Amino acid sequence: MTTQVTICGGGNAAHTLAGLLGSRQDLSVKVYAPFGNEAQLWQEGIQQNNGITVNTPTGKIQGRPSAICQDPSAAVAGSQLVLLALPAFAHEPILKQIAAHILPGAWVGALPARGGFDLCVRDVFKGRLSDISIFGFQTLPWACRIQEFGKRVTILGAKDQVDLTAWPSAMAPIISTRLQELLSIPINPTASFLSLTLADTGQLIHPGIMYGLFHDWNGQPYNNPRLFYQGVDGVIAGILQQMSDEIQSLRATLEGYYPSLDLSAVRPLVDWLKFSYQANITDSSTLQSSFATNSSYSGLLAPMKTTDGGFIPDFQARYLSEDVPCNLLVTRGIAELAGVPTPVIDKVLSWSQKRLEKEYLTSRKMQGADLRNTRSPQRYGFTDLNQFIQEMKYLPCTNNTA
Ligand code: NAD
Repeated sequence: MTTQVTICGGGNAAHTLAGLLGSRQDLSVKVYAPFGNEAQLWQEGIQQNNGITVNTPTGKIQGRPSAICQDPSAAVAGSQLVLLALPAFAHEPILKQIAAHILPGAWVGALPARGGFDLCVRDVFKGRLSDISIFGFQTLPWACRIQEFGKRVTILGAKDQVDLTAWPSAMAPIISTRLQELLSIPINPTASFLSLTLADTGQLIHPGIMYGLFHDWNGQPYNNPRLFYQGVDGVIAGILQQMSDEIQSLRATLEGYYPSLDLSAVRPLVDWLKFSYQANITDSSTLQSSFATNSSYSGLLAPMKTTDGGFIPDFQARYLSEDVPCNLLVTRGIAELAGVPTPVIDKVLSWSQKRLEKEYLTSRKMQGADLRNTRSPQRYGFTDLNQFIQEMKYLPCTNNTA
């Protein structure tokens, strides 16, 4: 029997999924690409190239989606699997467009989920949430880049394994097994979206390295773009270590309050690098060397714009514009509910919000005017940890109904 799948998004991840899944005979794949004129560019590219070519480290895979849609109803009606392959700030607008057309019983998930994906879906679907299963990947399984829009994409590297969670949580092993089969990558079911939110290392790595590289930037253009991951020196590794320690302290506090909470997938950063990239790291003895000798990170540049005089940091790029409102601020909001201090994360957030020209933290509290555009628990009205844990069903079933 053919399974109908919809991929929402038009970027690197969407191209990769469209090629990989579109190559399978047992799937009918539609792409929902409502952003700008992307649908037209996809259609033209696919026609000229007879599909999407995915260049993988072991060879080429050619897949052809059955339709490229701009209309949400045409895109998702009848689909059993809906994949959001988008930056997290686009999840909410896309979910609002497709929610009314989703088939009862469908699986709706994001690659990657980033922080607070469950809060966002719950808010969009409201009373209809129990009609669907939702899931999130802890990270995108690949580093991938479009070579030619609508035609070719390259997988630069694949993670060794990826964590996935689902709501209801009993669906996590079922969805993991099916997606592992479809994507040919080991997928581990994990306990809850709380775990997935706290475990997202993009929230540390991206704002943390941006802060480390540019917090003392003097406004003068650089002669050359700066390396991002390989720009992690001892001082930046120290900042990342402290941010990771603060999340571990939050994890320990939550586990102390709720002994049945499973946060085992919330790994210290250096352990996550080993878990995800073991085969690609030649020296994992320190956090700094784990970045410097990771071949998947080799040569990747910091987001920078060209000016007359050279290169300046791009503070609107995803490393801040996605990872601050839809990632680090979610964790910071949970820390505030739990009463766990996060001084180094606060320093990075205070600098980031100035660069983004937003106000999230004021007087070290989650109360700034721009919180409404984040996925923090405070944006969704949570001010009490117990209420948050219970309403979001983060504990194993028996405890949630207490
Ligand atoms: P991308 O930058 O290629 O995605 C851009 C696409 O998102 C656009 O082409 C458009 O289709 C859509 N989009 C952007 N803003 C939108 C909006 N406001 N409304 C609707 N659609 C909008 O992103 P990507 O590289 O495909 O990454 C997707 C996710 O995976 C991100 O969360 C990213 O951080 C993560 N990720 C990517 C990589 C990678 O190698 N590409 C690696 C790790 C994680």
